[in-house]
Amino acid sequence: MRAAVVWSAGGAFDVVELSQRAPGPREVVVRIRAAGICHTDVSLAHGAFGQGFPVVLGHEGAGEVTAIGDQVAHVAIGDRVLLTWVPACGGCYHCVRGETYICARRRRAGDTGAPADLTTVDGEPVIAGMGTATFAEQVVVPVEGVLPLPDDLPFEESALLGCAVPTGLGAAINAANVRPGETVLVIGCGAVGLSAIQGARIAGAARIVGVDPQTRRRELAVTLGADAAVAPDENPGASDGFVGFDVVIDAVGHGSTIRSAWDSARRGGRIVVVGAGGADDPVTFTALELFHDEKTIRGSFYGSSHMTHDLPRMIELWRGGRLRLRELIDDVVTLDGIAAAADRQSTGDALRIVVTP
Ligand SMILES: [Zn+2]
Ligand SMILES: [Zn+2]
Repeated sequence: MRAAVVWSAGGAFDVVELSQRAPGPREVVVRIRAAGICHTDVSLAHGAFGQGFPVVLGHEGAGEVTAIGDQVAHVAIGDRVLLTWVPACGGCYHCVRGETYICARRRRAGDTGAPADLTTVDGEPVIAGMGTATFAEQVVVPVEGVLPLPDDLPFEESALLGCAVPTGLGAAINAANVRPGETVLVIGCGAVGLSAIQGARIAGAARIVGVDPQTRRRELAVTLGADAAVAPDENPGASDGFVGFDVVIDAVGHGSTIRSAWDSARRGGRIVVVGAGGADDPVTFTALELFHDEKTIRGSFYGSSHMTHDLPRMIELWRGGRLRLRELIDDVVTLDGIAAAADRQSTGDALRIVVTP
């Protein structure tokens, strides 16, 4: 089985032959047909979030089931499935309260992945990153980590439903709970921010503004439903009597953009932080403004998406032409093209490149 290994922090993606263990009783083997390169993969390849090495990264993938454990009932060999990097256990403190997206038992970024899912041909353990490791020809995952896909949704578009789209769409719909007639500002127009813009449009926002330094991304923001898109140094809400946005979604995750999100929300407004930020990046608020401005700020992990419920909803929105996926894909490359594709992703040149192992 071929896979793209990162041997050490900051190293390139190196496509090599690996061995993979057989599935356990409640696991399935998935032949990966499409895997998106998420910005988080680029961060993890540089050692962010405590990632260990060597590792096979990738957490946005779709494919076909090729083998199942003997206790697996809800998928069969040949089924098309989406991988989720939050295989909800269904029984932890959070899952029983409906917060499956923060399941306490999911495997985290940086986990060493025991028992060894992958090894080199010489027997050296290789970490299956985020428990998904989709930059590979096949993966072994728990049955909770796969969700059924219909035949009419192409694998390349499907892959995006594993991370970027539920994260952005969910930030607007699940976390911000955008209501008809509200004004929404989305900071950062990458694949997550553009999905948040689509979510705000679907939820009935009256005015949506995107913020991004790149002209191309601003143009795409307007194509996908923003009423306007501005550069970070431009005023997003210049009109007489404008009091600030009802909802601001930060899809960047920097202290500075989160502070900007706070400042752009109206008094009593809601701020959702969905960008994956750093542990060494503080955000400062005064005690007075937290009290006086009566704003609500909340985080949103994986778009606060309950995937078994939200995936069919996303597929119906795509079928109805209301959720656009193809526009988010810049390019499709083979596994051998992953190193160059990851470079394009890290410079912000690409929105989403999909690998077809
Ligand atoms: Zn991701
Ligand atoms: Zn759980």
